[in-house]
Amino acid sequence: MVYVFLRDNDVGWDDQAFFRFHSMVKEANLPMTYAVIPAHTTQATADFLLDEQEEYPVESVLHGWTHQNYQKDILSKYEFGGHRGFDEQYQDLQISRQRMDALFGKRYVRNVFVPPWHQFNADTLKALHALDFDTLALSTAEKTTVDAMENKPLLSLIHVFLWLADPGFQQLVPVWLKEIERTITTQPYVGLLFHHSDLVGSHHDPRGEVESRRCKYVLKLLKAVAAKHRAQFVTQSELLKVAPEVVQ
Ligand SMILES: [Zn+2]
Repeated sequence: MVYVFLRDNDVGWDDQAFFRFHSMVKEANLPMTYAVIPAHTTQATADFLLDEQEEYPVESVLHGWTHQNYQKDILSKYEFGGHRGFDEQYQDLQISRQRMDALFGKRYVRNVFVPPWHQFNADTLKALHALDFDTLALSTAEKTTVDAMENKPLLSLIHVFLWLADPGFQQLVPVWLKEIERTITTQPYVGLLFHHSDLVGSHHDPRGEVESRRCKYVLKLLKAVAAKHRAQFVTQSELLKVAPEVVQ
């Protein structure tokens, strides 16, 4: 069995875009993992997600603390990792968890961390370990380092939305589909990463209409590709449960 999971990052930013995005995902009946920025997420948004997950396979997972960039030059932004040491990262993780506990109770995924910009260092891993996280969501480039620290890397490589409003959308679709096909036929799972904040229009303006149409089209294509390869959609944590051996 091949599995597909979808994750949308940066819940807490652009709530209007988030609610637009979520309504389309729900309409498509696709499971979704939302990566939540604790410092920016309101109780109202958390309550909304808690209500949704009662009836529908969505889940929330920790994504940084404030999503602040500590890197001052333009290369390799990071909130965790970089020049930051154990103590400050431990404190940020601890307060993140406290905030998530307050927002969601225990009804969120507590063992997985999604670091902003996929960045981390050895002290991030030590701090995660000390706080009983056991899985780090990354892109493939960092896999080897994580293995050495006994944190399972969960990989989500393919970014879906960055070009949604791009004039070259029609040309980019086959390129993107080919990458998904390649992954789905060679790997045990595919992780697809969305950013709802790429939806910059609104329901009522022309740009918003184009984005919504394309978003729905993309979700439909994803379902078609998955069906073709008999792949099963799961949330991130379901993947860890049903196929723990593939996440390594
Ligand atoms: Zn982010």
